[in-house]
Amino acid sequence: MNFLEARIVRDGVVKPGNVLKVDSFLNHQMDIALMEEIGREFKRRFADKPVTKVLTIEASGIGIACFVAREFGVPMVFAKKSKSINIEGEMYVAEVESFTHKNRNQVIVSRKFLDADDHLLIIDDFLANGCALQGLISIAESAGATVEGLGIVIEKGFQIGGRVIRNLGYQLESLAIVDAMDAETGTITFREQPQWD
Ligand code: 5GP
Repeated sequence: MNFLEARIVRDGVVKPGNVLKVDSFLNHQMDIALMEEIGREFKRRFADKPVTKVLTIEASGIGIACFVAREFGVPMVFAKKSKSINIEGEMYVAEVESFTHKNRNQVIVSRKFLDADDHLLIIDDFLANGCALQGLISIAESAGATVEGLGIVIEKGFQIGGRVIRNLGYQLESLAIVDAMDAETGTITFREQPQWD
């Protein structure tokens, strides 16, 4: 079991509706030593990629993406959730359905901060059905930028997002993949993966 999996077993809480709560170390209170470790691990996995920016989505991707961007020495850009209309001219826009809130949001990134010269590493905390990542990929496509890869802290492998994104041909790296979880017993089963260094 890697460092992150051990932490999920110790402090994660399985909620009904396929939701894993990790707000004591990742989503609300953040363990900064763990964030640093996560940043280093993504740098190791995408070391050969010419990343110019890290792209994520608010809110919970931001903290993690900062540590990844720090490792690569590049800026971090986050897609903002927005209710505004009439912003097409200045913004790249995508529709994203929220897994946790069950609503649809427009997410936007200013055209000032992404262009066709960018090589992006897309980062998020969780991968469930893949809507957030697909929205970010769509924003990258609108900018004409290259997606060098996608990094996820916790993938729920029993939901379809991982398969969808890998089938699109992207390098998707998930630091922990939960293959099963049970809200009644609290049991969490991880997919076997190569150990971190
Ligand atoms: P997707 O778009 O892949 O369906 O869901 C990913 C997004 O929903 C992530 O940005 C994350 O914030 C949220 N999410 C999905 N599943 C979980 C979960 O089990 N726990 C938490 N805390 N967030 C989740």
